[in-house]
Amino acid sequence: MLEVLRRIVQEVNGARNLNTALSTMVRRIRKAMKTDVCSFYLFDTEQQRLILMETIGLHAQAVGQVFLRPGEGLVGLVAQREEPLNLEDAHGHPQFRYFAETGEERFASFLGVPIIHQRRMLGVLVVQQQDKRRFDEGDEAFLVTMAAQLSGVLAHALATGGLNRPSRDTAQELSQATFKGLAASPGMVIGEAVVIAPPADLDGVPDLIPTDIEYEIVRLKEAIYRVRDEIRAAGERLASRISAQELALFEVYQQMLGEAALTQEVEKRIREGQWAPGALADVVRRHVQYMERVDDNYLRERAADIRDLGRRVLAHLQEGSPQTPESFPERTVLIGDEISVASLGEVARDKLVGLVSIRGSSSSHVAILARAMGIPTVLGMVDLPLPRLNGAPVVLDGHRGRLFVRPDEELLSYYRGMIDEEAALAEMLEHEQDLPSRTPDNYDMPLMVNTGLAVDAVASLKSRISGVGLYRTEVPFMITERFPGEQEQMRLYRDQLESFAPLPVVMRTLDIGGDKDLPYFPIDEANPFLGWRGIRVTLDHPEVLMVQLRAMLRASQGVGNLQILLPMITNVDEVDDAQRLIARAQAELAEEGVKVEKPRVGVMIEVPATLYQLEALAQRVDFFSVGSNDLTQYLLAVDRNNPRVAGLYDACHPAVLSALVRLAREAAALNVPTSVCGELAGDPAGALLLMGMGFNALSMNAPSLPRVRAAIRRVPLTSAQTLVDETLGLASPREVRMHLEKRMGEWQLAHLMPPRD
Ligand code: PEP
Ligand code: MG
Repeated sequence: MLEVLRRIVQEVNGARNLNTALSTMVRRIRKAMKTDVCSFYLFDTEQQRLILMETIGLHAQAVGQVFLRPGEGLVGLVAQREEPLNLEDAHGHPQFRYFAETGEERFASFLGVPIIHQRRMLGVLVVQQQDKRRFDEGDEAFLVTMAAQLSGVLAHALATGGLNRPSRDTAQELSQATFKGLAASPGMVIGEAVVIAPPADLDGVPDLIPTDIEYEIVRLKEAIYRVRDEIRAAGERLASRISAQELALFEVYQQMLGEAALTQEVEKRIREGQWAPGALADVVRRHVQYMERVDDNYLRERAADIRDLGRRVLAHLQEGSPQTPESFPERTVLIGDEISVASLGEVARDKLVGLVSIRGSSSSHVAILARAMGIPTVLGMVDLPLPRLNGAPVVLDGHRGRLFVRPDEELLSYYRGMIDEEAALAEMLEHEQDLPSRTPDNYDMPLMVNTGLAVDAVASLKSRISGVGLYRTEVPFMITERFPGEQEQMRLYRDQLESFAPLPVVMRTLDIGGDKDLPYFPIDEANPFLGWRGIRVTLDHPEVLMVQLRAMLRASQGVGNLQILLPMITNVDEVDDAQRLIARAQAELAEEGVKVEKPRVGVMIEVPATLYQLEALAQRVDFFSVGSNDLTQYLLAVDRNNPRVAGLYDACHPAVLSALVRLAREAAALNVPTSVCGELAGDPAGALLLMGMGFNALSMNAPSLPRVRAAIRRVPLTSAQTLVDETLGLASPREVRMHLEKRMGEWQLAHLMPPRD
């Protein structure tokens, strides 16, 4: 039975469009269950009714003609109750309703099950039989399992095929459509969709035998040469706007193209009797397949790079002429199956206003770059119907992770208003950014920034902050091809320390694992967030940690503002081990004649166990830094990257807030300075709560500073303290959010809250 289930799901999944998917589904289920009829009724949420969308066994002309409200007839009853209904004699049921169009009076037995995806009713699947037949438990279980398995596939098919449902006319076909993805870089824009189709289709290349092998090799090399040239030019166009580290990504592309291995492999195939496009497609496909099979985020991103490069070379082999940077529309929202770093550089920067892609997550290269460049971006938008988007007007909302295609006037004017408001707000807040973050009752709340990339942009904020609260060292490690050496790291760190001196810079030791992989150090685990992460990895690899510690200490020579932060601490032993290594690094440098002071050392409070070990930790370190992102995910047992449970992830959960209150109180009693560097600190209402709790500093992404400063300058410390007391009495995250919104409204600060649903 399992095998049948698997095959049906696979077939439905592989269907080209929604109609084929539905027709495959009902045909295969009827056959598997040996019944007379199998039908699917789609639930139309707009109209709040079920519509017969596909059937095998009822009259075909009834499709699109039978409508039922939830609760109406047997099918409506299944939808209303959201549970299966199994009847031996359907006609005898008081709810039975006869639809002449279907000819269903011939069918006595009825089994209907709802198809539900993420709590949303998609429709009802029904099987019917002419003779009185009691569908047995096995039948019911089969259909329920089938419905559960098909729900995801169907939700996807409905979303992607949703623009041309058979019952809709052309006018409706062109109406507004909304798509949801992962918010990867904030901001809202109105623009025109430009779908970057893969320049050439590697899967569509036929196998041909070349007539002149040498000519094929020459044109292959020529094509590769031209792609290298294009990428170099794209890199140059971006050079003044992105940092050297980010620019290094273009180098990686160049290296891949220059890699003898790839060219040689293609050449070898040509010599074996394939023409250049076919040989190229074979080699690229093989590499991509291999890399995509590996369970490693970074390698999968690399597979995308290789595929992109392959398509570019193929485009030249096929004499395609790529668009020039100037030929894009004025307000281009670039949309693609996957958007590579190189395609970013293809559009003139002043024309590029937004990015959307079907693949990718917030740790993709392109997300890192988009944030550094301030381009609103939504990734992982799996339901996008790419072929129908080109040239369409769109609204992109990088706060909520939404794309609106062909927005109607109402939505457009709503977003025009929001965008104007955001710009006006930014301008208004700018005026007070050089003022202290001081409350009306004269309490100074130190604000710091989180850094990782594009140090130059943030260094200009020096006069407005109290230092760097978190420098995520893994970010530069993520965009290199190997562990950077001691000198290389030293230069990076020295840059940071000098840029912000004399303000403190808190450098966190390498925090890899979880969702942060290094290309050259893959970690493959069933539960990566509960596994080999942060300090657990680096203590197991003292050779890696020692190089980093020595580089940090060496960089701090004569600057004196370094503080070291240890991530993912669970046990005090880990702190003792790390402290020993720090002391050793200091001693080794001293032997080399490099005299540095011992830096202040702190631990991240992000594993719940540390909440109960504050005293023991306080004896070993100088400060605490609360990683509210991880603390939330571990306290609530919610993976911070899993979209299925994203609705459960909330740093304003009362349990998280009460843990934070206790933590702030105990740390103060122990006299340990404690800051917060998770996203909660960058949320204006969250920042007020944290201030009210008594944390000593708040560290956030630079773009969050203006709103947080504005909130602090308008709310007295005493009111923030009252706010904490009020929220502690609330039972659910929803109540907390509602209360925060209410108070922010009363303080005339509603405009500071980032837009959310
Ligand atoms: C955190 O966990 O809150 C944090 C600041 O670190 P990261 O987001 O890098 O895990
Ligand atoms: Mg963390």
